[in-house]
Amino acid sequence: MSIPEQIRALEKLAQIDAELKDLQEQHAVERSTLDGLKSGIARLDEKLAADGSALAIMDKARGELIQDVRNMNQQLEHSREKLGRSRTERESNAAQRELEELRKLVRDREEEIGKLTADAEAARQQNETTQAEHKRLMDDLNSREGAISSKLGEVDRALQSKQAERDVAIKQLPPQLYRRYDMIRSKRGTGIAQTTDGTCKACHMALPPQLFHRLRREPMLEQCPSCNRIIYFAAPTPPTAPTQGGGDSASAPPGRS
Ligand SMILES: [Zn+2]
Repeated sequence: MSIPEQIRALEKLAQIDAELKDLQEQHAVERSTLDGLKSGIARLDEKLAADGSALAIMDKARGELIQDVRNMNQQLEHSREKLGRSRTERESNAAQRELEELRKLVRDREEEIGKLTADAEAARQQNETTQAEHKRLMDDLNSREGAISSKLGEVDRALQSKQAERDVAIKQLPPQLYRRYDMIRSKRGTGIAQTTDGTCKACHMALPPQLFHRLRREPMLEQCPSCNRIIYFAAPTPPTAPTQGGGDSASAPPGRS
């Protein structure tokens, strides 16, 4: 297999790989949109459940306090009766103290009930906001999921056929060259580079003049010393016919040093 044929086969593979990469990116974008919507909804589901149980706890505590106050009011009634029945100053003082203690207990409970009522009200409002947000995300998901899923299916199919195309393109290359290409591609994202004027078009570093000279003299494959990509010379204007280019009309600057 001649070097120009190897170059053409490499270019074909590189083109397929660029398309594959693009398809994979499209896939990732659609996937992350879908995942983002779903995980947003899942987070709100969790929040709604947690807030719901916090509210239930508050309501239960409030109910218990209200019951407490009811019981204490009954005790207050008894204490008042006791006060009315008291014959001695000692009895009267004792009943009075009992009344005061009970009143204080009732006041404390009522204060707590007030606080819990306000907290529960705030939590309920927050819950409504969360539910509205949840609904918004659900609507968003429902309106977009179909389109995203079909786009994902489409990209999946394109990926599969591109992968099949790649399998064919690989077979056109000497196995060793392919392995070298693919190792570089996996590290760098792309495996090949061209030079027209003495710099690597992939990493934009200047090639050693000797290397550039050799690349320009005859078709050959080398590796860029800076980025390791497989590099070859490309004439400044793409040839229209696959003839051996004799006219050395590269617009390279005159060799320095
Ligand atoms: Zn390079």
